[in-house]
Amino acid sequence: MLKNKKNNWEQKLTPKQYKVLRKKETEPPFSGKLLYNKKKGVYACAGCGQKLFSSKTKFDSGSGWPSFFKALKNKVVLKPDHSHGMERTEVICSNCGSHLGHLFPDGPQPTGQRYCINSAALKFKSKSK
Ligand SMILES: [Zn+2]
Repeated sequence: MLKNKKNNWEQKLTPKQYKVLRKKETEPPFSGKLLYNKKKGVYACAGCGQKLFSSKTKFDSGSGWPSFFKALKNKVVLKPDHSHGMERTEVICSNCGSHLGHLFPDGPQPTGQRYCINSAALKFKSKSK
């Protein structure tokens, strides 16, 4: 029998997660299930489980994607992204290198930054009771 040649990522992730995390696609706005999640907890990388954002820094940006004004320290890497004819800053998981979303300089205080993150790139871990 032929061995399954699909790489680990494709086996590990759902097709939707794979497209976002490994192919840098953006999910349609207002489609993610974590967009309106207001529970307390931590948002982790759907690829490797590394904690990325605290629910304390989540806010409703109206953009249609989960938005945070701050990432946990040293958990994300920022990279210039010139794709699609735009100048943007890509947000990447510092542990597994997966694409998470983009960073924009129009967020609320205290940081003025907006991490616009795909819901499919995140796994929510609610605070233990
Ligand atoms: Zn990761």
